[in-house]
Amino acid sequence: MSRSAHPAGPRHADVMSEGHYTAPADDLNALDEKVWSSTVTRDEHGALTVGGIEVSRLAEEFGTPAYFLDEADFRARCRAWSDAFGPGADVFYAGKAFLSRAVVRWLKEEGLNLDVCSGGELTTALDAGMPAERIAFHGNNKTVEEIERAVGAGVGRIVLDSFQEIVRVAHTARRLGRRQPVQIRVTVGVEAHTHEFIATAHEDQKFGIALAGGQAAEAVRRALTLDGLELIGIHSHIGSQIFDMAGFEVSARRVVQLLAEVRDEHGVELPEIDLGGGLGIAYTSEDDPREPHEIAKSLGDIVTRECEAAGLATPRISVEPGRAIVGPTAFTLYEVGTIKPLEGLRTYVSVDGGMSDNIRTALYDAEYSVTLASRTSDAEPMLVRVVGKHCESGDIVVKDAFLPSDLAPGDLIAVPATGAYCRSMASNYNHALRPPVVAVRDGAARVIVRRETEEDLLRLDVG
Ligand SMILES: *Cc1c(COP(=O)(O)O)cnc(C)c1O
Repeated sequence: MSRSAHPAGPRHADVMSEGHYTAPADDLNALDEKVWSSTVTRDEHGALTVGGIEVSRLAEEFGTPAYFLDEADFRARCRAWSDAFGPGADVFYAGKAFLSRAVVRWLKEEGLNLDVCSGGELTTALDAGMPAERIAFHGNNKTVEEIERAVGAGVGRIVLDSFQEIVRVAHTARRLGRRQPVQIRVTVGVEAHTHEFIATAHEDQKFGIALAGGQAAEAVRRALTLDGLELIGIHSHIGSQIFDMAGFEVSARRVVQLLAEVRDEHGVELPEIDLGGGLGIAYTSEDDPREPHEIAKSLGDIVTRECEAAGLATPRISVEPGRAIVGPTAFTLYEVGTIKPLEGLRTYVSVDGGMSDNIRTALYDAEYSVTLASRTSDAEPMLVRVVGKHCESGDIVVKDAFLPSDLAPGDLIAVPATGAYCRSMASNYNHALRPPVVAVRDGAARVIVRRETEEDLLRLDVG
């Protein structure tokens, strides 16, 4: 029942072909509000500002490259998601998109729950005071030690990902004298990407337990018999950077079918379903993401309709947006170092960061946009490729974009929508020092994750 073909190329790749670029915007200085956080604007001198602070001041104080995170925008997005889903549903922020103790405190204050998927993320969440019952623990290969810590801390749910894990979690919970609330992650045979999805009977990937072949039904059967476990529901996560709700529709239908089978076989109506995350954001002006209230309505309608058809009471829904909350809240600020015009091709603009602070372009062929941030310019547009300083020709930050042709070394340029999967996937390649994350709000800026130092590098290298 494939609705459209899956493009060849890397998994999760954006759909545009190599070398694609659109015509330059009419005004290169304009800021498309879709791709910038809400307090980003230009001041009377044309300089980009966030939270009321001009980027040159930020660069002076915090250096470049650096991520600047708009705290007011982050909090507003949290509220938009929780208001859209209302008290009858739960919003879990997916911590892997970007997690720090400050972020955990904001989530806690704004009433969101939190997904973690490693011992490190769990420690960060607990250390910053997230109540354990608001934490969900994910992962396809949680270690026994991680399971012990999660159960011992009293996390609100563990999402079981394999038959082995059903037994491990049950065993640990019994040993610790607990009954651990769990969900079973199922693979519904839907692979969803930006503008297309495929629905199949099978899914060739590592996560979850297949609905196909009665595997998931068997997992439910086992979980229900183990007294260390309280099975509260079924979980499905279908992809990332998704705009098309049709993939969620197929997923919800298949999960509800399983709930109906469980009722028929065991006389139990599982009270919850989790539809995962994966909702898309605008990286460029060509992306058109949905608002949280539209997403909430559409998911709510799908689940209600499918449950009515199956004669089930509508379960409590949870969702797990990561990118859709933090992605648009931050931009990366770079300083231009060198500019190389390649006749008849494009101009290469090298910045002081690269694939160590944004691996998504190399990994997923992702699209980004870029703007001259320290000033405006009325010069003619030039086609550029923004590249980093790493020893790798695939070290590309922005594949194709237009910048003014009077761009010069020392100018600051900003790449928007880098809040998700940039700092969290940052590396030390070439012994790069991972950039800081600076939260900006109401005219004040503070470091929430500091820049790495050469001492940090040497401290890990024990000689
Ligand atoms: C990655 C992930 C998410 C978040 O995905 P986004 O694309 O950031 O919304 C949610 N749930 C699970 C299980 C995930 O693996």
